[in-house]
Amino acid sequence: MARKLIVTTALPNANGPFHIGHIMEYIQADIWVRFQRMVGNVVHFVCADDAHGAPIMLKAESEGITPQELVARIAAERPKYLNGFYIGFDHWHSTDSPDNTALSQDIYRRLRAAELIYVKPVEQFYDPVKGMFLADRYLKGECPNCHAKDQYADACEVCSIVNTPADLISPYSTLSGAKPVMRTSDHYFFRLSDDRCVEFLRSWLTTPQRLQPQVLNKAREWLSGKGDEALGDWDISRDAPYFGIPIPDAPGKYFYVWLDAPVGYLAALKNYFDTGKARANGEPLSFEEFLAAPDTEQLHFIGKDIIYFHTLFWPAMLKFAGPPYKVPDHVYAHGFITVSGEKMSKSRGTGISPLRYLEIGMNPEWLRYYIAAKLNANVEDIDFNPDDFIARVNSDLVGKYVNIASRAANFISRHFGGELKFSGDTGLLAREARGIAAAVAGHYEARELGKAMREIMALADRINHDFDAHQPWVLAKDPANRTELQDVCSRALQGFRLLTVLIAPVLPEVAGRVARELFGMTRTFTWSDADVLPERINSYQHLMTRVDPKQLDVLFDVESGPKTATDANLARAEAKAATGANPARAAAKSAPAAAKAAPAATPVGTKEDSSGAATISIDEFKRVDLRVAKIANAEHVEGADKLLKLTLDLGFETRTVFAGIKSAYDPALLIGRLTVVVANLAPRKMRFGLSEGMVLAASGDEPGLYLLSPDSGAKPGMRIS
Ligand SMILES: [Zn+2]
Repeated sequence: MARKLIVTTALPNANGPFHIGHIMEYIQADIWVRFQRMVGNVVHFVCADDAHGAPIMLKAESEGITPQELVARIAAERPKYLNGFYIGFDHWHSTDSPDNTALSQDIYRRLRAAELIYVKPVEQFYDPVKGMFLADRYLKGECPNCHAKDQYADACEVCSIVNTPADLISPYSTLSGAKPVMRTSDHYFFRLSDDRCVEFLRSWLTTPQRLQPQVLNKAREWLSGKGDEALGDWDISRDAPYFGIPIPDAPGKYFYVWLDAPVGYLAALKNYFDTGKARANGEPLSFEEFLAAPDTEQLHFIGKDIIYFHTLFWPAMLKFAGPPYKVPDHVYAHGFITVSGEKMSKSRGTGISPLRYLEIGMNPEWLRYYIAAKLNANVEDIDFNPDDFIARVNSDLVGKYVNIASRAANFISRHFGGELKFSGDTGLLAREARGIAAAVAGHYEARELGKAMREIMALADRINHDFDAHQPWVLAKDPANRTELQDVCSRALQGFRLLTVLIAPVLPEVAGRVARELFGMTRTFTWSDADVLPERINSYQHLMTRVDPKQLDVLFDVESGPKTATDANLARAEAKAATGANPARAAAKSAPAAAKAAPAATPVGTKEDSSGAATISIDEFKRVDLRVAKIANAEHVEGADKLLKLTLDLGFETRTVFAGIKSAYDPALLIGRLTVVVANLAPRKMRFGLSEGMVLAASGDEPGLYLLSPDSGAKPGMRIS
């Protein structure tokens, strides 16, 4: 019996573009959804922009546009990211919509009828110039503890003490600079502390498998808090002016954005049904019917920062609103994504711009795979490490998975006209495939994506090992071995097909192409294809390139210019590579990776690997200031797999250079050596610091890197010409 699932991701705030954290969450949910569909379950996967609240209102005001215009502008950018990373929401909506207004007001009326709403006066700072009440983030003043000026109430930046707005000395509004006054206004409250709510939440929270253990523990703590920590009622109203949904029968009062935001999940679903899109996707029921069906499951993927709302308010609101509303069946929280160990920061940026990733031509499925390989079912942060990214994509995805097809398919096409034939027990092959598929399915279902990827790559290792052990390139030389050659290659391709089924939720584009191009199918893979043995193949088409490390340099080059000019960025990367900038990467251009890169690959870079470099004039060569340098110090760089940090004595000055020679040199043995440096290279900001030049090293098709040295007698600073 197919499951019926509503799956959502957290609603992103519509005051800015997606950052890498959003994309990680969407990729996680999208992989899970694609897996559910492959096993035959019905999934409606929706999300919406969280459009309301004071920050959006104020931001629009500062730009001289309406909040609706601001939200529309942000919304127009969404498809670029979502399509770009193959994130297949069925519908994307907005909380600033008639559906959401109707649903939010309906839920409110039901809660009021259940006597869970009450009104209470609240005293709060008010900006008399701006004419609005001030949330804490719009208040600054002098810290009462250390007397630092211009501090927010929640935490003093200087002494870290936590104050309340009333504690601040000479408070002022950050919106107008005015001195705020205390003013009283009626606020509407949701009675979360009501015994009915507490009793319900206790049983909802502890339903087995509903929440991850870490999330359950946190929610239980909140629920059973005492004294100051006791579960409070929830202030759900804000006074005009506010960009939000009016509270029925309460002129000048609006729902606090956190009330109508989660209702936006349902509004998105309703709009998806009401506009006929659900029906077009084969859904026979109406929104109300689907929502109310007892076997419909409602699941939310969220970040760990919004557990409170999703495990307390949201289920309680839905419970006491009553049918057709239903309480969430699961809330799945994930951690944050850090970049090279650093937390994302709004002011310093996010480390990786998802749009830039796409614009410079990086393959979205690399990121999908990398994130999948890192995620588990716990609430843990994951780290995007550029060198780890390159290694996993190049060695696992391309080296292990894609390579199987490219190697085996050529033999089958050339020697057997595309026909596969197995010599041994095909029943056994199918049974083994079923067993592996069941294990991987269990990991997907449990959101243990990292375990699923490890299982898949272990299988890829076995297939490669088996293939190599039979040495098909030797078999192919003697017609007497034809049967064995065909069997060996057929097994490899059966294995590749199985791998493709298993990894299809992560690599939808590649899996679609394999089904269509290699196996000539007219549909995409389903999970039940795992144990079907293929009978023939079409000729192999190139599937995926390796990551060029230069792309990571462009991705992280935060200072560089045009954000939209893809070609300009790539051209710049090319130019830098050609003139020898980009020291670490140029030096680190490890021969095996470059040599194995598939010919059709390489959108950037590798063409100057060959000896056929263009001719330059002597004047052009003279522009390169090559100098003898003494390595005064060499050390490892924390977090860098390939780089050493070199301190170079150029006679007239000292330079810091990051060089990708860690694989070849022990830093202790480099100290005191002479080498050659490009001295007039523009300094380049790298992930680990500023690199002020480039040391020269040789590399070829074999592994190995060889640092250049002058003959003895040369002195630091000597010019090389
Ligand atoms: Zn202070």
